[in-house]
Amino acid sequence: MEKDCIFCKIIDKELPSDFIYENDRLVVFRDINPHAPVHILIVPKKHIRSINDLTEEDNEIVSELISVAKDMAKQESVSESGYKLFFNVERGGGQVIFHLHLHLIGGWKR
Ligand code: 5GP
Ligand code: ZN
Repeated sequence: MEKDCIFCKIIDKELPSDFIYENDRLVVFRDINPHAPVHILIVPKKHIRSINDLTEEDNEIVSELISVAKDMAKQESVSESGYKLFFNVERGGGQVIFHLHLHLIGGWKR
């Protein structure tokens, strides 16, 4: 666990958050400030600062983030209507929490 990392504290249950899903490698919870009717974050338990810090040994977890996102989209009933998956990378890319996380947003009425 990285000192002063909000997401490490959420993962370690030092800060409250309702997990939608959890396994040994990642957690999923709702964004506190949603930008869409559905806005969830898929977060590896391993503290990785950003996409820039990924190494080859992280390939499996990155792949799992995406496959769990697909499952979460189905669970949240946005699979059919569609959704966006994205990573913000470093300050210029809009990243404010420096613990890797995949955003899933969707649920707009079209
Ligand atoms: P970033 O801009 O770093 O890609 O996204 C960080 C996201 O985390 C933001 O959308 C923000 O609303 C969300 N967030 C920040 N702090 C908390 C928190 O304590 N709990 C939850 N559930 N989400 C948070
Ligand atoms: Zn962290």
